[in-house]
Amino acid sequence: MTKTKAEHNQANMENPEENLKLVLVGHVDHGKSTLIGRLLYDTDSLPEGKIEEIKSICDALGKEMEFGYVMDNLEEERDQGITIDTAQIFFKTQKREYTIIDAPGHVEFVRNMITGASQAEAAILLVDAQEGVQEQTRRHSYILSMLGLKQIIVVMNKMDLVGYSKERFDEVLSELTPFLSGIGIDPGYVIPLSAKEGDMVANRGDNMPWYDGLTVLEALDTFEPSKSDLEKPMRFAVQDIYKHDKRIIAGRVEAGVLHVGDEITVLPSGERSTIQSIEEFGKDDVQAAVAGKATGIVTKDKLFVDRGDIITAPDAAPKVTDTFKAHIFWMSKDPLAKGERIIFKCSTQQAVCSVEEFTKVLDSSTLEKLEGREEIRNREVADVLIKTDKPLVLENFNEVPELGRFVLERLNTCAGGIITEV
Ligand code: GDP
Repeated sequence: MTKTKAEHNQANMENPEENLKLVLVGHVDHGKSTLIGRLLYDTDSLPEGKIEEIKSICDALGKEMEFGYVMDNLEEERDQGITIDTAQIFFKTQKREYTIIDAPGHVEFVRNMITGASQAEAAILLVDAQEGVQEQTRRHSYILSMLGLKQIIVVMNKMDLVGYSKERFDEVLSELTPFLSGIGIDPGYVIPLSAKEGDMVANRGDNMPWYDGLTVLEALDTFEPSKSDLEKPMRFAVQDIYKHDKRIIAGRVEAGVLHVGDEITVLPSGERSTIQSIEEFGKDDVQAAVAGKATGIVTKDKLFVDRGDIITAPDAAPKVTDTFKAHIFWMSKDPLAKGERIIFKCSTQQAVCSVEEFTKVLDSSTLEKLEGREEIRNREVADVLIKTDKPLVLENFNEVPELGRFVLERLNTCAGGIITEV
């Protein structure tokens, strides 16, 4: 049921079973947990006896069983440490395995999506057919667009509450579609649904003969996994140096694959060497480490390496720069003014930076353009020019996302951003 990203990559290398990472987004109470529970149930992906266990608890409490309780139950087990890590949930169709990236609350969702904790390849955007488009529907859509997610299914949930009415479906759509096209999202599918009753999730049900499109599972199976991290140029972010009998550089493979014998360049210094060995606790003779893997390396030559350095393949090396264009999503009640100093973090790199220029500031829900602004306020997004106090190793987000996304921090995270031009 649970695997880390590196384990997935490693498994994919050895046994290329296809996996696609999926995130569910939408306004609170529009049915995310219910749909997750329903997907797990309909694809037979729940642990044996789980539904019976939840049903009997509901019976004892005199409550109707809800699929959303499946998520509550899994989250509770995680909190109690029963299962190691259910932050990722899996289900399988005939075509492939899906990982659902769990986004419990609105604030966590925004943070996880932007800071890269959740690197989804596809998204389901839920809209409650009765309530229609709400503020978080728009903000979450904006984030999908900002992160360049293209494989999106819009589901109009709770159709049972509106008598499975095509008129209501069309009415909500006529509000949603212009907003989505305004931010460059063209959903591949728009599906009327009842997560509670199950219509159009795995089965069509009998209630919506007027809809002749795909079910959610069929639509998901038409999507493609994004180009694997493994095919990208190698990037290794240095976390720490350990001096035992050998000098081990500890860090994480952010992209590509690292092999013993590979030539490497350390940035920003530009020093070069070769990988002599890969060191993993309790393992001998490790020959390769894949994207997502935290590991240690030993180099042939003694290098001056430090936390925050990026070790890369010598060809296709990233840029070293202190000025770049970015798009940021501000998430703090205290605004950020032009020129104000703030902490910049990208992978293991850290620096002090400031916004030199606000090119364009928008409200992320209404998309209203805020003219003449020299600061950014809560829930606003902006195109900016950032300058750091020292050179960093950075890449465009759409090329190597791990070195193209960053956070801005005061005492806690205030913004997430992506680099649009180094
Ligand atoms: P979340 O906040 O987006 O995770 O929403 P939940 O999944 O917790 O759902 C919020 C409420 O809506 C719960 O009481 C659900 O039982 C209810 N709900 C979700 N999907 C449906 C549906 O398709 N039909 C009906 N009638 N209720 C639903």
